[in-house]
Amino acid sequence: MNQEPITSLKGIGEKTGALFRKLGIETVDDLLHDYPRGYDSYDPPTPIESVREGEIVAVSGALLKTASVRRFKQIELTLASVKDRSGVMQLTWYHMPYLRATLQMGKRFVFRGKVVKKGSRLEMEQPEIFSPEDYEKVMGSMRPVYGQTKGLGNKAIVRAMEEAFARHTMEREYLPEDLRSRYELAEYNYALEHIHFPADRAELLMARKRLVFDEFFFFLLAVRRLKEKRQDQTSSFVMHHVEAVDELEARLPYALTSAQKRTLTEVQRDLESGLVMNRLVQGDVGSGKTVIAILALLQTAYNGFQGALMAPTEVLARQHFESMQELFEVWGVTKQVVLVTGSMTAKEKREAYKKIASHEADIIVGTHALIQENVHYDNLALVITDEQHRFGVGQREALGQKGAESRKDLAGTLPHVLVMSATPIPRTLAIILYGDLDISVIDEMPVGRLPIKNCVVDTGYRDRAYQFLSKELGAGHQAYVICPMVEASEMIEAENVLDYTKLLRERIPGARIEYLHGRMKGKEKNKIMEAFASGEIQILVSTTVVEVGVNVPNATVMMIENAERFGLAQLHQLRGRVGRGKAQSYCIMVNGSDQDGTQERLDILNRSNDGFYIASEDLKLRGPGDFFGMRQSGDLEFRLADIFTDADLLKTVAREVDELLKSAPGLADPKHEALKERMDAYVSKGYEKLNL
Ligand code: ADP
Ligand code: MG
Repeated sequence: MNQEPITSLKGIGEKTGALFRKLGIETVDDLLHDYPRGYDSYDPPTPIESVREGEIVAVSGALLKTASVRRFKQIELTLASVKDRSGVMQLTWYHMPYLRATLQMGKRFVFRGKVVKKGSRLEMEQPEIFSPEDYEKVMGSMRPVYGQTKGLGNKAIVRAMEEAFARHTMEREYLPEDLRSRYELAEYNYALEHIHFPADRAELLMARKRLVFDEFFFFLLAVRRLKEKRQDQTSSFVMHHVEAVDELEARLPYALTSAQKRTLTEVQRDLESGLVMNRLVQGDVGSGKTVIAILALLQTAYNGFQGALMAPTEVLARQHFESMQELFEVWGVTKQVVLVTGSMTAKEKREAYKKIASHEADIIVGTHALIQENVHYDNLALVITDEQHRFGVGQREALGQKGAESRKDLAGTLPHVLVMSATPIPRTLAIILYGDLDISVIDEMPVGRLPIKNCVVDTGYRDRAYQFLSKELGAGHQAYVICPMVEASEMIEAENVLDYTKLLRERIPGARIEYLHGRMKGKEKNKIMEAFASGEIQILVSTTVVEVGVNVPNATVMMIENAERFGLAQLHQLRGRVGRGKAQSYCIMVNGSDQDGTQERLDILNRSNDGFYIASEDLKLRGPGDFFGMRQSGDLEFRLADIFTDADLLKTVAREVDELLKSAPGLADPKHEALKERMDAYVSKGYEKLNL
């Protein structure tokens, strides 16, 4: 592994180095494992008459006129039109007036870019420009396309990558030979190079298969290691049953569903069993997982221990904290809850840490600030992670470690672990991916919930949607409007939160409308979220920061602009923000594209509110192997692997990992030395975040 800084590469100075760091790339090794987002294939030029909207194509022809530069609002447009034997096509570039010097009348070029529809015409936006000779040279090849940042474009990243490979020293193959031959897996160094620079699709598939295999392989080895460490461990935090918790459960404003009851019983049985609990609670959005967590935390507190709940976002952590405080007040429960998040001031943090260390705090709620070094617990007996799919196995383990350290007198004491997830993965996959956990499924929605009414509309429907929003506000309800972007962008035509808020304030005068996005300061976000939760804000225009866990039952409308830009799983999560109370809720998905297939994809959500069904239909539509399309979910942080489309390989790897560990426990055999080394590095670097 090459741990030299990225700036050790030729042509990368401090400034460019800083841009790479912005992309999370610090070392040469990080760079080599920054896999392409996709690939450009330089196909032969297409006749203009047969290009289609949405495609990325090359067209070859002569310019009808010298390009002209025009100003439109804040944007400088360079316009040209190209003609071939079959037709004429308009070309547009943003903020590149200097192109005019190149784009002279009568000259021949090849333009390659995305075909978009403007009015009734097809145009090309921001095309790359080649001389016919240059295009000839790249034709037929595949070029990687990387995640980029302002100031660091694809060309520069490709150049750095080539440089990195030029100096790259081969690494030792670590997979057992028999495995490689049985599954026809490419050699590691070959795979690494060809995931970046495949000559064709077949090479790309070879490379990808090997790397996906490795991702699953190490992940599952890590899960097995966790399992061995934790399973059947006697607990130092054996709890007794607490009558007070049963009484509180009876005083909830609703009756638990039978699935919730079953889950709660399973959790309580674990806590009282004398063994360490390792349990996953899986339940679709809105199935009521939080209350299970709260009751388990209370049982822990009444047993004289501490319990912690970790959430992936600050908004969600704060919400859990507040709803717990409220509930405890109503119940007259005097157990202390404290919050720990990154955006708290140093003073606030210090106070929280003090309460945690002194056990003044019984229940601790927070983001991954909970696992920071300077948080010391007194006796942490139960750790819960909410929305586990947003964390890595490593972070889950780190919180467990905090529990182990919290009792110096009981060296190595493991806390009980409960993880909660709404990811709709089939049981067969869940058993593999969460192999170290017992699983409870909440497969039932609270009674009295009306199913969400859905519609997919085009942008022409907006006026009616706004009328509908006003009506819902009039009835005392609230609404979310989701936009994909924070602010206007030259490159991407999609609705943005800032402009949309202005527009909506004009269109629905008198309504109290605010916006929320990830770039706002923590404090500001909290203020907005609180005002929305209390009903002070009626419409929240937001990016997907509200995607996970947020619970404002009075909100009845979820309107999603540019719905075509989101994955189905993500849309399902967003929609899960409504339909959380007694009133009828609605989800309006605005399809901003008239591309083929979009409507079909969105219709899946239109038909069903069931996360499992949606995931399986989505898979059918994409088909296995369609791995560079929209990823189903941000699950488990695999870089290349997609647990759905690669499900078969996942199952295979799971079998192989079991076999291997059976025949070579602990990988102690010298012939597995390279593998063991790799595995140790994987674990120490924080599991799946490691570069494979
Ligand atoms: P999720 O499983 O998505 O985390 P939550 O725990 O946030 O769901 O619960 C969603 C909403 O449903 C909350 O407002 C919660 O108070 C309510 N709720 C939970 N269980 C029930 C139930 N058995 N009956 C009615 N409402 C419930
Ligand atoms: Mg939740």
